[in-house]
Amino acid sequence: MSAPTLYIEKCDSYTPDVKESLLHLIRPFGWPEKAAGKRVAIKVNLLHGASPEKAVVTHPVLVKALSELLVEAGAESVVIGDSPGGLYTVSYLNHVYKLSQLLPCESERVHLNQNVETREGHYENAYLLHSFSYTAYLDDADLLIDFCKLKTHGMMGMSAAVKNMFGTIPGTTKPEYHMRFPNKTDFSKMLLDIYRYWHPDLCIVDAIDGMEGNGPSQGLPRHIGCLIAGTNAVEVDLVCAGIINLKPEDVPTLEVAEQLGLIQADTLDTLTTGGADWRDFVVRDYQNVAVKSDIAFAGKGGPIGRAFRSIARIFLKSRPQVRKKQCIGCAKCFQVCPARAITMKDKKPVIDRSQCIKCFCCQEFCPVGAMKVHRTPLAKLLSKNK
Ligand code: SF4
Ligand code: SF4
Repeated sequence: MSAPTLYIEKCDSYTPDVKESLLHLIRPFGWPEKAAGKRVAIKVNLLHGASPEKAVVTHPVLVKALSELLVEAGAESVVIGDSPGGLYTVSYLNHVYKLSQLLPCESERVHLNQNVETREGHYENAYLLHSFSYTAYLDDADLLIDFCKLKTHGMMGMSAAVKNMFGTIPGTTKPEYHMRFPNKTDFSKMLLDIYRYWHPDLCIVDAIDGMEGNGPSQGLPRHIGCLIAGTNAVEVDLVCAGIINLKPEDVPTLEVAEQLGLIQADTLDTLTTGGADWRDFVVRDYQNVAVKSDIAFAGKGGPIGRAFRSIARIFLKSRPQVRKKQCIGCAKCFQVCPARAITMKDKKPVIDRSQCIKCFCCQEFCPVGAMKVHRTPLAKLLSKNK
């Protein structure tokens, strides 16, 4: 039997004994010993910083435990980093670290990234993203760990190992990528390019408590009870989708990965996994966000097929919608909207639907969850009957 490419460990709470669980999880891949004498970067998910119990960020207790394991195994240094949405400055990063309760992770050989330099990357084998900006601190690492949080995502259905690597793009330039790749197929290819360019040495998913509902920032924590690790982020995401009761075709990056041959239709059934069985962690009533739109209806067809697809798009497409009572008028959505589709009127956002590219950045960055993903009644009905 071949060695597992994916490992699952049952883990129910963020207590110090997660260290033991993490050790079980990463040992089948040769970690933490692999870190001896190396400089390791841990790319966490910080979004815009939030207290850990909100399930927005990779939990600091896990990040601390992993850093300690790496140092104890002889790592030369460990740097913990991300480029949250917004300004990529030292003061903003430190604000986000503080909100996310990451300060206790630091020690003599463990640091929270303070290098805000950016560089230009070039990727010859990219599907779409041949040149891009990235956060330069990653160049100083010999090994890279992608340490994400399992969450729902308004635009991409789910945020896990592949989507987490979008945080290697500096926060201020992320909106530009939404404009360059406005449809989900291209956006997915771009995300897969970023993942393939960095190809992390290990992917770990914090799925002790995931986020459901209005993710990735304003949903609710939902207990799942496991940690997942693997060396292939697409396969890791396949399992994550299965656990939160999504099919691969519900997650654009997975659907596109299959079209590109990165996974096969039967990959989930044929994966060699170690540890616990992922099927034991499936949450059948996980509150997901349906994102089916341009990808699902992108097939060929004659004029009738095209007309049907146009009508279907209108009746199925999700869109951002403001809950005015909840809105505090902070204008964050106005500032992050890459399409300049939002204006502020009487301290409330007004969305110009003709300009909106449905990137859901406004929903992602609204600090009080007032910007929701609105799904049409037909889309709700179809997803219920799936
Ligand atoms: S209104 Fe929201 S979803 Fe539409 S383009 Fe702006 S940020 Fe994206
Ligand atoms: S970000 Fe949220 S709270 Fe702030 S103005 Fe927009 S909808 Fe209102």
